[in-house]
This record gives sequence, structure tokens and C-alpha cells, in this order.
Amino acid sequence: MPTTTPPPPHFVLFPFMSQGHSIPLLHLSHILSNRHISVTVITTSANHSAVKSTLKNDSISVIDISFPDNSVTAPPGVEITDKLPCMSSFIDFVDATKQLQPQFEHAVRNLPPVSCIISDGFLFWTQDSADKLGIPRLVFNGMNIFSMTMCNIMEQFKPHAAVGSDNEPFPVPDFPRIKLTANDFGPPFNEVEPKGPEFEFMVRLQKTAARSRGLVVNSFYELEPEFNDYWNRNYGLKAWLVGPFCVAKPETKPKETAEKPNWIQWLDVKLAAHEPVLYVCFGSQAEASVEQLVEVAVGLERSNVNFVWVVKPKELRLIGEGFEARVKGRGKVVAEWVDQMEILKHEAVCGFMSHCGWNSVLESICAGVGILAMPLIAEQHLNARMVVEEVGMGLRLWPRDKVARGVVGAEEVAEVAVELMRGEGGRRVRKRAEEVREGAYGAMKEGGSSSRTLDLLIDHICGFE
Ligand code: UDP
Ligand code: UDP
Repeated sequence: MPTTTPPPPHFVLFPFMSQGHSIPLLHLSHILSNRHISVTVITTSANHSAVKSTLKNDSISVIDISFPDNSVTAPPGVEITDKLPCMSSFIDFVDATKQLQPQFEHAVRNLPPVSCIISDGFLFWTQDSADKLGIPRLVFNGMNIFSMTMCNIMEQFKPHAAVGSDNEPFPVPDFPRIKLTANDFGPPFNEVEPKGPEFEFMVRLQKTAARSRGLVVNSFYELEPEFNDYWNRNYGLKAWLVGPFCVAKPETKPKETAEKPNWIQWLDVKLAAHEPVLYVCFGSQAEASVEQLVEVAVGLERSNVNFVWVVKPKELRLIGEGFEARVKGRGKVVAEWVDQMEILKHEAVCGFMSHCGWNSVLESICAGVGILAMPLIAEQHLNARMVVEEVGMGLRLWPRDKVARGVVGAEEVAEVAVELMRGEGGRRVRKRAEEVREGAYGAMKEGGSSSRTLDLLIDHICGFE
């Protein structure tokens, strides 16, 4: 009797509309596609072209859905579009995405049978859709397991209730060797009796995620084994560490000099002259204060290190007139969207001054580049603790008096940048970064921990186990 081969598994990926949340899920779609899983990415029309150009893979289909024309009830002064607005209206934007629900469900119903939906934790309402359509859902929330564990422990044990100020260290329950402060956490986790919109928002995300089939985590077991084990032992929602996804980023083809972006040409010149370069970038979302940008500029100028600083266009004028002229020859300011991985992997780049967004940290790991940690918002302070104190591949830039949320002064920027680029601390960090890089690639190759975990996850979801 002829046997019929079952259709290959079909995963729907629905990223949240910000660079930091979309880019990793698009890399994951390549990883799944390389395993002969058919993948459909759902996005909004305004993000379609960005998604297409990141994907560079025609076998992954992309479907657009739109906000209904008359729908979005934006609070006064907040214009809701498919693009992420400023962070102050973040919760309103997340709530407004719920208006995509009918179109999302319509799109999924019209696809060939779907084995699994992987959607961002912020798109919390997709859990209701998944339940309605009878499809298992996995949640992606862009964080590592260390930071998620620390947040859960804060909620559960409230260790910060026992200290006198937000800046007084306390030992973390179940991990007493780790000392944190309330200032390492953003609201609502830094509050002892949390209430208000941020708290309600977080509870809603947690409750819907708890109904899912698990968390897809962009990290790898060897990077944070204790926290992975602790999480899966203590919390009902299983975490599957299957990254780092940036390993799957399509390689850019070698280009002729004239075709290279001017900052890559500049790095080529520095490499030929054996002059190591510090790469400076604070991600796509966080906005450093004007005061902080000025301190960074003055610090870089004083440090005498070579650097490429990628800024947002509106930040260019805040850095101050004459800055570029004063650092000419050893500093380059770029006010464009760059291919960050291409810069990090450039042989001239030996350090990364970063806000410690989780994607940036993973990209630095995959390039084997040590980090100069300057966290700004969200869970970046926890990521910085992890990179510097747990993993040992970074040096921390501390605000004066070591207050986690203060402004980092120019003298600190200059001193620690020099230490990273020329000092003993820098040598130690680079050696460690190289080891962690090996671990990351080892995890992703066939038989590595992330690759095996992904096999288990696919079997688990598709019912093959
Ligand atoms: N593992 C991993 N990443 C994970 C979970 C597990 O690399 O996210 C590895 C880890 O080495 C662990 C093994 O897979 O010891 C089995 O873990 P799992 O939690 O799947 O065990 P089970 O619950 O099936 O006993
Ligand atoms: N990124 C980039 N070019 C830029 C700025 C950022 O490619 O000019 C990418 C970076 O490589 C990373 C993402 O944008 O993949 C930023 O994510 P991250 O988690 O580091 O920070 P966020 O922007 O979410 O704060």
C-alpha cells in the first residue's frame, strides 16, 4: 500500500513591531526553514518591506494584516501607527495591537494547517486566538532566562522590602552570591507593593503567557545553565533555549571596496593600520538623555581611543557642533541604520560600548567582542549584571556613586574605555568573549544544546514524541 508522507510542520511566526523584537524572530524563521519546517511570518503592512529585506529567503512566506482604518482609539496626543511610538505610550500601543485580532485569526484560518504559533509576549491576545483555533502557541519575549528569573524572584520573595533604599544591595533569594539593588529593575519589579498600569500590564502578559505551551528563549544552555535549570524546576511554563538566533543571519557577501558602506571602509583602514576600534551603539529603541549623550561624547573625545559611534539621526545635533572635527581620524559618527553584525564581526572592532539590549549582547557574543556595559532602560541593567558579573565578558560603566539609574560621567567613559581597549581588564574580557563565542556556535551546531532542544521542542509541539 502506498504510504502518504504527512505534510511538513507549519509554523506561524508573529513578531512584535520593534526592531529588537522582530529581528530575532526573523532569524528564528530561517532556523526553522532550514529544518524543512514551512514558515509563515505575519506582520503589519507598514512593516512588510522591513521584514522582507531582513528575511532574504523566498521560501518563507510573509502575510500582511492591517489596523482597521477607523479603529485605533488612541489616547490624546498619541498617534498609533504600525510603527512603535515613543516608550511613554508603549502600553497604549501594545493594547491597540489587539485591534489586529480579527484579521490575524482570518489570516491563520486561511493558511494550510498550522502546527504552532510563535508570537511575541506583547501580542498577548494571540493566546486567545490560538485557543480559539486549537493551535498550540509558544511565547517569545526577547529576554534571557537570567533576567526573567530575577524578575520572578523579586515578585515572589520581595527581597528589596528588607533594604533601606533602592540602591542598597540585597542577596537574591536562592542565589545568595548574587547581589542586586531595586534600581537594577524597572517598574513594576522595583516596587514592593506594585500597583497601577505597569503592574496590571505585566500581570496580564504573565497570565496569558502561562496559558501557552512554553517560552522560546533566544539564549543557550551553556550561557546560563543554573538559571535554565532553576526556571524549569520552579515554574510551570517551560523555557526552551534554542539560540542564539543571530547565528542564522544570512551572511553579507564580500563586497568591492567602493560598494562597502563608508564606515566599513573606515574600519578597513583602521585594520590595515593595526588600530583597534571601539564600536558604540545604544540600540534602536532606548533614548539616552541629552546629558548622557554629552557625557559619552566628552568621554570618547578624552579617551583617545578609536571609535565608530552609531547614533539616531536626531541625536547627531545633540552631540554638539565641532565634535566630529575634533575626533577626526580616530572617531567616526554614523547617523544611519547599520548592519550591526557586520560591524561587530569586522576584525578592527575589539570592544562594544552597548546599552545591553539582549540582541546586541548576543551579537557581541557571536562576534567574540567584549562589552562596555551602559544599560539605559527595561531589563538592560540586569543584562549588564549578567554580562559583567556572571559571564565575565564585559566591564561596567557606572554612574557616579554606583547608582544604577544615574548618569555615567565623561571621566568614567574615558577611563573604562581605555581599560577595555588597552588594559588588563580588556584582555581578560576578550579572552572570555572568545570562549563564549565558541560556546554559542557549539550550541547551535548539530548535536549542540540549542539544536537538540529545538528538536525536542518540535517533537513536543508536533506530537512526534
Ligand atoms: N537542555 C537544554 N536547554 C533547555 C532545556 C534542556 O540544553 O532549554 C538540555 C539540558 O542539558 C538538560 C537536557 O537538555 O539537561 C534535558 O532537559 P529537559 O528539560 O528537556 O529534560 P526533561 O524535562 O525532558 O527531563
Ligand atoms: N541594529 C542594527 N543597526 C542599527 C541599530 C540596531 O542592526 O543601526 C540592530 C541590532 O543589531 C539588534 C537590534 O537592532 O539586532 C537592537 O536590539 P537590542 O535588543 O540590542 O536593543 P533594542 O533596540 O531592542 O533596545
